[in-house]
Amino acid sequence: MFNIVLFGAPGCGKGTQSELLEKHYGLAHVSTGDIIRGEIAAKTPLGERMHGYIERGELAPDELVVGMIENYLDAHADVAGTIFDGFPRTTAQAEAFDRMLSARGLEVGLMVYMDVPEEELVKRILLRGKVSGRADDASEDVIRNRIKVYNAQTAVVADYYKAQGKYEKVPSLGTIEEVFDRICKVIDSRR
Ligand code: ADP
Repeated sequence: MFNIVLFGAPGCGKGTQSELLEKHYGLAHVSTGDIIRGEIAAKTPLGERMHGYIERGELAPDELVVGMIENYLDAHADVAGTIFDGFPRTTAQAEAFDRMLSARGLEVGLMVYMDVPEEELVKRILLRGKVSGRADDASEDVIRNRIKVYNAQTAVVADYYKAQGKYEKVPSLGTIEEVFDRICKVIDSRR
C-alpha cells in the first residue's frame, strides 16, 4: 500500500491532480473538504458542527477531521493505497495520522508539496467559485483568510514530513498535464 499526502495551499490544484493520479496509479482518493461538504449538504449533526468553520475559512477541529480519516481507513482496508488530499492540515493531525496508520501496519510513503504563488491561488479560487458554487470560494475575504490559516497552521506540516525524509516539492504552475507529469516523476522515483 503506497499512501501519498498531496499537500499545498487552497487553490493549488490538489483536487484536479488527485483525480488524475487516482486513475494513473489505481489509488483511492480521499478529500476531507469533500467529506465535510457532503456532511453539510446532508445536514448531519457533524455537518452542522462544521458549517461555521468552513464559512469563515477556518480549519475544522482536529478531532472531528481525524475521526473522518479513521473511518475512511477502516472502510478502505483493502485498497492499493490512497491519495490524502487536504489532510493532514495541522501538526496534531499529522501526528494522529501516523498513530492511526501504524496501528494498522501502514505508513505515508510520500508527501508531495504543490508549490503555487499566493496571487495565483486567489485568482484560481475566485475563478473556481464561479463554476463550483462553493460558498467559501466566492468571497475574496474568505479566500485570503484560508490562505492566512494555511500559512499559520498548515505550512509547518511540510517540516513534519521533511524530518521523516518523505517530502518532495513540485513547482505547480503550468498546464494541468505539465504539473501531472512532474508529480508522476516524483512518485515514480520513490515507489
Ligand atoms: P481548499 O484546499 O481549496 O481550501 P478543501 O476542499 O480542501 O479546499 O477544504 C475546504 C475547507 O474544509 C477548509 O477551508 C477547511 O475549513 C475544511 N477542512 C478541510 N480539510 C480539513 C482538515 N484536514 N482540517 C481542518 N479543516 C479542514
